Amino acid sequence: MEETHHLLGREMQHFSALLASNKPVKVVAINLPSEVKIHYTGEEDELPSFQQELSSIAISHRSAFTLQAALHNPLHLVQGLDAGLTCATPALFHILMPDDSQTPARQFMHISSAVEGRQFPLFTYDASREKWGSRFDIDANPQAYLDWPEYTFEMLAETKEVSRIDLAFTFADYYAVNPANLIHLFDVPAHCWTADLIPLAEYLKLPTDQLYAKVPFIWMVDAAFTLHKMAVPYALVVAAKERLDFWNFIQELGGVSSFHVEQAVSRTRKEMLDQVEREVTELKARHELEIEKVRSTTAAEAMERLAGMLLDLDSLTIPGAVTQTSTTTSLAANPVTKTEVTQMVEDIAQTPVEVSNDAWVESYRCTSCNECTDKYPRAFRYNGDKQAYVADATTVTFAQLVKAAQACPAKCIHPGMPLNPKEPGLDALIELAKTLN
Ligand code: SF4
Repeated sequence: MEETHHLLGREMQHFSALLASNKPVKVVAINLPSEVKIHYTGEEDELPSFQQELSSIAISHRSAFTLQAALHNPLHLVQGLDAGLTCATPALFHILMPDDSQTPARQFMHISSAVEGRQFPLFTYDASREKWGSRFDIDANPQAYLDWPEYTFEMLAETKEVSRIDLAFTFADYYAVNPANLIHLFDVPAHCWTADLIPLAEYLKLPTDQLYAKVPFIWMVDAAFTLHKMAVPYALVVAAKERLDFWNFIQELGGVSSFHVEQAVSRTRKEMLDQVEREVTELKARHELEIEKVRSTTAAEAMERLAGMLLDLDSLTIPGAVTQTSTTTSLAANPVTKTEVTQMVEDIAQTPVEVSNDAWVESYRCTSCNECTDKYPRAFRYNGDKQAYVADATTVTFAQLVKAAQACPAKCIHPGMPLNPKEPGLDALIELAKTLN
């Protein structure tokens, strides 16, 4: 058993030789919270130094079981001791112990805040496991997936209004737990609280070019429960950054926030998004093709029906009406939408129909009853579909046309106007014809 700073100093060579021996040697290193100091003071020409990590040195021997534990978490400590003592390899138990000179409450606060503030992360390294990644376990740390543990606090304003605030417990918070360290923090008066005063956890995430004029702080509360913003000196910022860097190193070993995993996830996500985008583009193109096909088919059918109607109504004088040939040609050359066809049909339906002066038959309504064709065979004949049409109106009198129209069961014969103005009784016949045209 030895204190940490001795193993890192004069005993380092001996310590390393023990772990490298591959014999079941068990080493217990005692770490005291009072040993924690800010190594960088910010003096001119001084370079910030990193803390030496006894457990990391032990891990570098690869075959040594390593436990870094604290007394405030007895379960993690006992399980680690059990695993390390029963393994056949060297083992290091690096344990954060309380300072006997302090009260039990302060001892507990010191130890737990050292773990919370990432000053002394908890982990085990079990060299007996085959895969490197599986040898590390960092689950004993509070909120091991975050840079700093976060907690929600309720604040009561002077107006009695209660608000909630999420605060990260950083290395600077741990540092401030020791009353002796408070002389290094600066209480910022409330009238100086500007937007440039930002929480340390946020400050540490900012890129260098955004740090100008920013001042990091941590919240503290006094005996009267009044909140204070305590500005963090540069030396403490450097120390917090160093601790965060070590914690991120431990996280990566424990499989949290692994750079390589994040790269792989990012690559896979991009590939999946690209694939989805390609499929969406293809689906859109196929969908538009289908819509165009349906639109063309619908328009063609509508135009065919329209053309059929127009051909059947070719005896009417319909302004703007087109022949079947011209309609079909127009459709092929200029596809129209269903809406356009509907509009065209509505326009035609609303166009006033001028009644022809010539006698005519609505052939498509003819029932082929032979009535007119038998009585007036020269005036009425059948077409190829055996539906009657006016072949020669000059072969009958206007009176005969009116009579044929009256006799037609389908009421599809329209006598028009008399061809011979001298025919007797025309006035009465014309009045009658008006009801038949
Ligand atoms: S009388 Fe009317 S239905 Fe009969 S054949 Fe003549 S047009 Fe057709």
